[in-house]
This record gives sequence, structure tokens and C-alpha cells, in this order.
Amino acid sequence: DNTARKQVEEERMKLDQRLRDQHFYTRSLIESNIDALMTTDPQGIITDVNKQMEALTGCTRDELIGAPFKSNFTDPDRAEAGIKLVLSEKKVTNYELTARTRDGRETVVSYNATTFYDRDRRLQGVFAAARDVTERKLLDHALEEAKESAEDANSAKSDFLARMSHEIRTPMNSIIGMADLLWETPLATEQREYVRIFRKAGSQLLDLINDILDLSKVESGHMTLENLDFELREVLDRALEMMAIRAKEKGLGLELDIKPGVPDVLVGDPARLRQVLINLIGNAVKFTQAGKVTLRVERDPDDSAGLRFAVCDTGMGIPADRRELIFAAYAQVDTSTTRKFGGSGLGLAISRRVVELMQGRIWVESSLGTGSTFYFTAKFLEAGAQSPGIDESLATRPGELLEGGAQLRILLAEDSPDNVVLIQSYLKTAGCSADLAPNGEIALQKFMSGTYDVVLMDVQMPVMDGLSATRRIREWEGANGREPVPIFALTAHALPEEVKKSLDAGCTAHLTKPIRRATLFRAIEEHALKRIVVRVDPNLADLIPGFLENRRRDVATIATALGQADFEAIRIVGHNMKGSGAGYGLVAITEIGASLEQSATRCASDEIGAQSAKLVRYLDVLRLEYR
Ligand code: ADP
Repeated sequence: DNTARKQVEEERMKLDQRLRDQHFYTRSLIESNIDALMTTDPQGIITDVNKQMEALTGCTRDELIGAPFKSNFTDPDRAEAGIKLVLSEKKVTNYELTARTRDGRETVVSYNATTFYDRDRRLQGVFAAARDVTERKLLDHALEEAKESAEDANSAKSDFLARMSHEIRTPMNSIIGMADLLWETPLATEQREYVRIFRKAGSQLLDLINDILDLSKVESGHMTLENLDFELREVLDRALEMMAIRAKEKGLGLELDIKPGVPDVLVGDPARLRQVLINLIGNAVKFTQAGKVTLRVERDPDDSAGLRFAVCDTGMGIPADRRELIFAAYAQVDTSTTRKFGGSGLGLAISRRVVELMQGRIWVESSLGTGSTFYFTAKFLEAGAQSPGIDESLATRPGELLEGGAQLRILLAEDSPDNVVLIQSYLKTAGCSADLAPNGEIALQKFMSGTYDVVLMDVQMPVMDGLSATRRIREWEGANGREPVPIFALTAHALPEEVKKSLDAGCTAHLTKPIRRATLFRAIEEHALKRIVVRVDPNLADLIPGFLENRRRDVATIATALGQADFEAIRIVGHNMKGSGAGYGLVAITEIGASLEQSATRCASDEIGAQSAKLVRYLDVLRLEYR
């Protein structure tokens, strides 16, 4: 009876079949994988591969099995190190190798590999899967290249804009300056109208160039903020003042509303703050036909460390779908705006970036036909009692006049005849004239053989440029024990690097073309005439001279008291100055008084000496203007 044997055989055949099925299934799994798969023994000799591995290496299965793993790669040492790494770490991921076929085709692959073991946990070898990453590499590379070329293009654009604005400024200097001078000559009505248009267009063009330059400055990270002490009220007043005439022409009200709790003196960049305010107030006036524009300032309700400014109008409003878009460069609600109202669409884009530099944000709330409110927040430091120095309180005047300018001995180093004519004409209106030097070399010669109070130094000149000449002048002054004479660099460059270059060379200040007469006069007043002009209330005209006389006496009192170490007397002098100065419009006296009071309380003799000297200097250079 072989029934039992047959049964056993049948069972075995079934089992064999199952084993073959299982084997086929495993093989199919291995072959259907998109990665090239392979096993090696612990020595790195290949024991099995799939079809993808054949394609990757260009070898047949028979050729691969039994051959060393490393021989299929461009860098066999790195391949072998990879196997060793798997053996020591039990696993590697994303190990990059370049496979090479016999006919030289290369593929970059990324390996993931682990060790594998038998039932008794004896190491059998390495199981490795290689993924073709050539495509990804190419993409990465292309992306990197695209990014680099975009960055290059962007910096080329900023460069181009900076250069263009420079090129444009030079002739603009003559155009605007000459138009200003022409305006002051006797003109027929028709001529006056032409010149008016000519000046208006000139200043619009200059605004546009400044805007474009500003935008490229922020975009290329060149814009940095100043940290100056400033009076908020003054910045707000000046911003409103700029727009007052236009508002009046349109019959619009212009209001300022400062909420309680807003500090008077802040530390930050007043010029940039004013720029944002002027832009928002300017827009509000531009897009409002009737009603009023209000500038409101309060503590930021969401962050008490900051301030929130709001410019509120009763104008046409902005459609909801445009309220975000208008903050992008060159964007306007509709293009007919430009035709009707002018403008470049750059103002809000620049404002947004400036506000972000001031650690704030800007947004608009609006309802069509009723009006818009532009909000922005900004952070400032609040000024400490002792920080404002006299120099910052230098009042700037609109300045048509240059009193005392006639005695000044001025050297003008400039090669362009047009600019010479322009600056000479400016100076003539103040009753002064200048000696001329057409290049730096001659300027240096003239400077050494003459005595000058001011040098106006063009930067780009033949033979010797302005910066080299300035350096030589400073050396000569140093060697001969002379006080440095104010030298103003005149250039068409407005970028901060250029300003720094001229200051590094020893220039006192940097004037950017087109140079306006008021700017030139103000610079001369500040640096060469060494005056501090303070505007005071005409009603106090008969009291102020006596008040200042008493401060001279204070200086003497302080000196005596210091000799006797009588700090209490000094404290009282300081306290009284602190309490009275600002009432007369002389804030610097209040500030010096406050510092004196503090120093006296601490018996700090050195500080008292310095503050007293500061007071003397202030009294010496102070000029009052009753307005
Ligand atoms: P510009 O005023 O030079 O066109 P801006 O960037 O300052 O550029 O403003 C962009 C656009 O936003 C304006 O052209 C206008 O369409 C819209 N806009 C700005 N402010 C107001 C406002 N107060 N009321 C209505 N529309 C405004």
C-alpha cells in the first residue's frame, strides 16, 4: 500500500510549488522596485542584483554576481568606504556615489543600505538600494543657477538705478538751479508762467529720481536708519506744513491730533518718519475733494512700546480688492490715476519698507466714497533727560539769506563751468564770492597759499580728484598746526557709501547735487559761521537779552562755587535754568540746566566743568530770530 507515500509526495509537491510561488513573488518584488537593489557579502562581493542594477552598471547579472561592489563606480575608494560604513554603523542613508557603465555613462545615485543576518544572527552581508538622483541634481543645479542669476540681475538693477540717478542729477543740478535763479529775475507774465512750469516739472523729476533711488536702496539693503534725538511735534508740524498750501488750495481742513501719553522727545530717524508722513498726507490731500485730513498720533493699542500714526481722509476711498495691492511698487488703484493726479505708485511701497525698518507695519482701512485711514506703527526709543546735545538743536532755517556771509573767504574747486556759474550766482545773492580752482591740484596750491573759511570741493575733477585734495589739505593742516577748515564735498552721489567715502577723506559734510541754494547756505551757516539759530516768540523780545545776560552770570557763579566745592549752589543754578530755558524757547538751556542739577547732586566736578563750557559755547554761537 503506497497511499501514505503518495500522500507524502503530494504534500511535498504542494510545498515545493508554494516555495516556488513564494520565490517568484519575492523576486518580482525585487525586480519591480524602481531602485537598483543589490546584496553583497561582508567583503563587499556582490551576491545578488536586480534588473535596475544591471541597467545602472551596464553589466549582466552573471558579470555582477561575484565581482566587487566598488568596481562599478567612478570613485571605488568612496564606494568601498560606503560598504565599510554600513558594516560598522549597520546602516547608511543618502550616501552619494556616481555609477559608471563600461561605455562611460555616468549616473549619480543616492544609496540607502543596511546589514542583514541569518536566523542565528550571523552577519550575512549588506543590502543596498540605489536611487537615481541625476535628475534631482540637475534641477538643484539649475535652481541654484537661476537664483544666482536673479540675484546678479537684482544687484545689477540697483547698480544701474544708482548710476542713472547719479547721471541724471548732474545736469538736473544746472536745470533746477538755473530755473531758481531765473525765477528771481524780472520776467514778463508769460515768461514767469513758463519758468513756473519748468521749476515744477524739475522738482517732480527730482522727486521721482529720489523715489527710485530710495526703492533700490531699501531693496538692496542699503537703507539704514539714523538714531537721533528729535522732537516729535516738530516732525509732525513740518510734515503738515509741507502739505498745507495744497490742502488750502483745495479748501481742505488739515488737523493734528496728538493723544495723551505720546512722548515729546524720541530717538530715531526723523527724516524717514517725515518721509512716510508726507507721503500719506500727500496722498490723502491728493485723493480728497472735500472735507478734511487728520493726522492722529497715539500709543500703539497693541504694543505700548510703539506709537501708532493714522492719516484719515474724507476722500474717494479704495476698493477692497486694491487695499493690499497699492503697497506694491508701481501699483495704483487704476492707471487713469496717473493721468488725473500724477504720481508714480512708488510712495506706499517705499513707506511700507521704511515702516518695516522702524519695526512697524502699515495698512489701510477704507470705505468707498467715505474715505480712507492709513495706519502705521513704529518703534522709537524715548530720549533720556541728559542725551540731547546742543548740536542737535541747531535750528535749520528756510534760509534765503546768509547773514555775515560777505566776509567769508570761499574756495570753490569745481571743473564744470556750468556748476561754477550756478554756485557763484548763489553766493552772489548773499554778497559773497569765491576763488576758483578747476582741479584738486590747483585747489591744494591755493589753499596752502591763502586763508580760507570754507572750501566747496567737487569730488570728480581732472588731475587730482576732490577726495585726494581733501586728504592732502587735512595732512597739510595737521602738519602746520592749523584748525581744520570746513570742506563740503559736492557730488552727484547720494548713496550712503559715497557719503561715507567723502567723510572718511576728511570732508566736513556732503552736499548732493542738485545743490539748492538754501542747503548750501544752511551748511555754511552751520559749519562755517558756527551759529545756532533759534526761533523765539517776538513777544519775549525785550526779556530774552536780560535772560541770556543772567546765564553769563551763572557761568561765573558756577566757577566760584566749584572753587569752594559748594555743590548746593550749583544745583540751584542748574535747577533754575532747567525750569526757565524752555519757557523762552531755549530748550538747550533747560537741557544743560537739568544735566547741571544732576551732576551737582552727585558732586561730579568734571561733568560740571564740561556743562559750564557747553553753556558758554552755546551762548557764544546763539543767534535769535524773532518769528
Ligand atoms: P502715487 O500716489 O504716487 O500713485 P502711492 O504708492 O503713494 O503712489 O499710492 C498708490 C495708489 O494708492 C495711488 O495711486 C492711489 O490709487 C491709491 N491711494 C493712496 N492713498 C490713497 C488715498 N488716501 N485715497 C485713495 N486712494 C489712495
